[in-house]
Amino acid sequence: MKTFIKPEIGRRVIVTGKPFYPPNVKTGFHNLPTIISGTVIKSDPRDDVDSFRLATGLSHFPISVVKLTGILDMTYDDGEQAPKEEKAAVSDFVHTITGSKGDEYVVTKSGDNFSCTCKGFGFNRKCKHINQVREMVGA
Ligand SMILES: [Zn+2]
Repeated sequence: MKTFIKPEIGRRVIVTGKPFYPPNVKTGFHNLPTIISGTVIKSDPRDDVDSFRLATGLSHFPISVVKLTGILDMTYDDGEQAPKEEKAAVSDFVHTITGSKGDEYVVTKSGDNFSCTCKGFGFNRKCKHINQVREMVGA
């Protein structure tokens, strides 16, 4: 999945997306206008690590905390597209399962796809080892 990179402090950006929530509102998330522009300012240590703050210049909504995962599009004020980075799917893994007869099978998860080295998977594209791993990881 590609996500936007946090823009540096002082940069003027135009962000499209949701949700945005002003830190002065205690009630949680608010769906505010889906396009917001402002200057990137220093984050508060209590902010989520994948967020940044915008000084919007709006009196009723002076600071917006923008979540990177909530951004649909982001451009700089000169019209240049803000860069994205590829985020490795953290859920991908390889897991070795020992079968009932002591044989070892390797279950691999890649994105939403599971595969196994056993014969059963070769025939059916599914097997009990995958189910076992799914149960273990809650996938
Ligand atoms: Zn298997």
